[in-house]
Amino acid sequence: MQQPAIGTRTRTLGILNQYHLSAKKSLGQNFLDDLQVLEGIVNAADVTDQDDVVEIGPGIGALTEQLAQRAHQVLAFEIDQNLIPVLAETLADYQNVTIINQDFLQANVPAILQHELDGQHQLKAVANLPYYITKPILMNFLKGAVRFETIVLMMQKEVANRLVAQPNSHDYGALSVMTQYLYRVEIALEVNKHSFIPAPKVDSAVVKLTPQGERPEAAYSQTAFFSFVHGCFMHRRKTLWNNLQSIFDKQPATKTTMQQVLATVGIAPSVRPQALGVEQFITLTNEFHKVGLLQ
Ligand code: SAM
Repeated sequence: MQQPAIGTRTRTLGILNQYHLSAKKSLGQNFLDDLQVLEGIVNAADVTDQDDVVEIGPGIGALTEQLAQRAHQVLAFEIDQNLIPVLAETLADYQNVTIINQDFLQANVPAILQHELDGQHQLKAVANLPYYITKPILMNFLKGAVRFETIVLMMQKEVANRLVAQPNSHDYGALSVMTQYLYRVEIALEVNKHSFIPAPKVDSAVVKLTPQGERPEAAYSQTAFFSFVHGCFMHRRKTLWNNLQSIFDKQPATKTTMQQVLATVGIAPSVRPQALGVEQFITLTNEFHKVGLLQ
């Protein structure tokens, strides 16, 4: 007899019961048991049989199952050893799923992808993230060596709001600038906490990241750009000038060069960092590089 989908409440509760599993808070285990939300995530990523999908944290397999029904291949990284035999049974019908029992942040992802996938399909990343490491995983995607066609991630709504935030808004900061430098960002779905077992404390949202096309002006170095942007937002309430003094130094010659750069690009020293758009941060990075203040 055909079983109901893993992501239905009855089946999820049945699996947790059968394997005597209780969600580990320390690993951010909040299992999705809402089929509509699961379908919403897969639709946001527009998964087809032309795609290989990397998933972080399959849990008991609710999202993995939905992905496997549409994708060519699913490669899922699960840190919790106890879930590996569970996944072997819940996903036994899907020959296109490979589970890697490793910490996604420690794994050599490019090498594993090269070993496990045929390299002939588009790469997408889809996950219901463990919330205790949302930021390191995001940074991993931003700095990462692997280029994904689309990245769709469920995260805390508060972090999602920061990713899509525009200049002069409360949520706009270094994470918004770094993410929007590389990706077009949209909130695909807002998700109520009651769509999970156990319910997390906060509401969630599904964010879709699509690589930006080529920019008219790119930063001379992504690493320098990220670190410069981070420095500019170190003290949000202070002016750009104050933050620049912390990034560089307070020597008179440096100050003169800083003033000249700001005058050249037409940015007042008195602005707050949150008033600047992504392009202005790119221009500033490149100009400070030209005058030798950024290496
Ligand atoms: N995908 C499942 C779902 O939607 O129901 C479970 C999502 S749950 C929010 C997060 C999952 O990530 C858990 O299964 C947890 O064990 C796993 N996890 C936590 N930290 C991880 C890490 N560093 N690397 C890989 N998986 C991790």
